[in-house]
Amino acid sequence: MVDCGFSYKDMVTRLKRLDLNPDALAAIVVTHEHSDHVNGIKALSNRHSIPVYASRGTWIEIGADNYKFINHIDGLFSIGDINITPIPVPHDAREPLQFVFGCSEKRLGILSDLGSLSNRILTAFSELDAVSVEFNHDISLLQRGPYPSYLKTRISGDYGHLNNNQAAKLVEQIASDRLCTVVACHISEINNEVALVEKALESVLKDRDIEYLVASQSDGFGWITVERR
Ligand SMILES: [Zn+2]
Ligand SMILES: [Zn+2]
Repeated sequence: MVDCGFSYKDMVTRLKRLDLNPDALAAIVVTHEHSDHVNGIKALSNRHSIPVYASRGTWIEIGADNYKFINHIDGLFSIGDINITPIPVPHDAREPLQFVFGCSEKRLGILSDLGSLSNRILTAFSELDAVSVEFNHDISLLQRGPYPSYLKTRISGDYGHLNNNQAAKLVEQIASDRLCTVVACHISEINNEVALVEKALESVLKDRDIEYLVASQSDGFGWITVERR
């Protein structure tokens, strides 16, 4: 599992929807300490003895002493037969990471909570079979929306979150011949709309044989088989 921003109870309900229970989890890999990523981790980890993996900075911020089983990420690592590459990202947290997971020839990338892109990130997320990318906000909805100006500045800044245009550009740049599936995630319920995310995805994927879906905060999504149609 990557992150757990929901409460323990909510997470157990959500796992059930996928025919899973917490004891099926081999580990929880944490991206960073913001509450929408860590709310339920302590209860989930400690009650079910699930090891947690986090960067040193995240480890300090979440209080490693609160966890029975916590591991420090300091380079490539593996959990069972999954190889994991941590990638540092520009975001206003202590030592935020995102990840590429490799297992039996398939490569899956997870990239959310970053304010800007770099060649290093583009290279790390190239040659994937599937990717989940943050489409956090629409620039004009954010600017016109109800958030106070300091928060608007934070979200749209280089250490905040990707807007629809940045995310679509990233998808266009990493869309190799092997990429089958794109999941748009971490979508603001206040500063974005599903139709705008779909439009942004459509603008870069319309001529390509790549499946995409927009993740919903309330409903999540079901299992996805990553393969060429
Ligand atoms: Zn977040
Ligand atoms: Zn964050």
